[in-house]
Amino acid sequence: MPLTGIEIFKLLPKTNCGECGVPTCLAFAMNLAAGKAELSACPYVSEEAKAKLSEAAAPPIRPVTIGVGDRAVKIGGETVMFRHEKRFENPPGFAILIKDTMEESEIDSRLERFKLQYERVGLTLRPELVAIKDDSGDAKKFEALVSKVKQNSDCSIILMSSNPDTLAAGLKVCADRKPLIYAATKDNLEAVADLAKGNSCPVAVKASNLEELAELSTKLTEAGVNDLVLDSGSRTLRQALEDQIIIRSAALNKKFRPLGFPTIVLPCEMTDDPMKEAIIASVFVAKYGGIIVLSDFQGHSLFPLLVERMNIYTDPQRPLATTEGIYDIGGPDENSPVLLTSNFSLTYFIVSGEIENSKVPSYLLVKDTEGLSVMTSWAAGKFVADAIAPFVKKCGIADKVKHHKLIIPGYIAAESGGLEEELPGWEILVGPREGAQIPAYLKTQKS
Ligand code: SF4
Repeated sequence: MPLTGIEIFKLLPKTNCGECGVPTCLAFAMNLAAGKAELSACPYVSEEAKAKLSEAAAPPIRPVTIGVGDRAVKIGGETVMFRHEKRFENPPGFAILIKDTMEESEIDSRLERFKLQYERVGLTLRPELVAIKDDSGDAKKFEALVSKVKQNSDCSIILMSSNPDTLAAGLKVCADRKPLIYAATKDNLEAVADLAKGNSCPVAVKASNLEELAELSTKLTEAGVNDLVLDSGSRTLRQALEDQIIIRSAALNKKFRPLGFPTIVLPCEMTDDPMKEAIIASVFVAKYGGIIVLSDFQGHSLFPLLVERMNIYTDPQRPLATTEGIYDIGGPDENSPVLLTSNFSLTYFIVSGEIENSKVPSYLLVKDTEGLSVMTSWAAGKFVADAIAPFVKKCGIADKVKHHKLIIPGYIAAESGGLEEELPGWEILVGPREGAQIPAYLKTQKS
């Protein structure tokens, strides 16, 4: 049974030194009990106490890493049911399915589609995993496919077979990539557990219902296999979603260790309709898939899924923000226009993109608004004349241009009077409200 906050407190040094990031040992103990802190944050815990605390200190959902290097996927480690309570920690990995019965040309084109990637708000969004499925029952064919995938891609790998000999053939080729072994079931548990231990790889455990899943995961942990990923076996959206919620709730709210692992979901086995599959996948991005296996990747469905993942796994208390400063766009000179915007990343990338589209070299002043958009930061008093004027004065733009004209976003037109008072000698021009209108506006300014 997990320890209570008070029981944990009794084992801590009680010096209240604050080095763990909270002011008292009691506060740290409470965080530890709630799964919101790591024991390693306190440098003064004795070895004896560490041993006793290991149960309480273990995160309620064990973090599991699949793969190595840039495409390694860390899943699990979650501490809340709802994103607004704190944040979701580790985004799910997306996998493309490749079967060993597919034509070479199809395999090649899937490996090509695995390379799909997109730039968004300064981040590169891309999938991480290839799920290689034994469809032929031929271990040599499976091994050859694993070898081909490994040679042609830096992906993380999922080896999918119910036959431990076939899984062993795949592991022979790619154990150094630390693939996810899929899956241990009631029929092959011991053999797959041996493979996982022998190759130090994570293993997925698949059952036909949650009770069986808990039994199998308990057997695996007792056998010394701790990096588990859970598959409840449900292949309808309704049942699979219900399972995801029960697993998360049992792990977090009941501290039920047998279900305290990340999950794998397979929309590829829930429908033959690619559009429905993408919608099902989107549900599991929100609740609570760890690995999401898709039958194929297509740009029009993969891109929205990647953006959804990015949005849901962004810390809601810390919006994506761009650094405050002057941004040169298109090689501006002393006669170039000067525009102002907030430092919400999405706003910055839209505005800078539209300035680029206009082909009018410009300076873009990005004011720190704590990552809030123009309207939100204005309403919060962070993007008003009193706050903007000191930034304009100190950023150094006055030394870069001969004119003193500042173009502000149309949404804060009400600040133009205040800015002219705060910035003597500057002419304040009210620009467009929407980014899409910037190119036409800048061309007018030029003429
Ligand atoms: Fe207490 Fe350790 Fe935190 Fe110091 S670092 S306040 S000793 S829990």
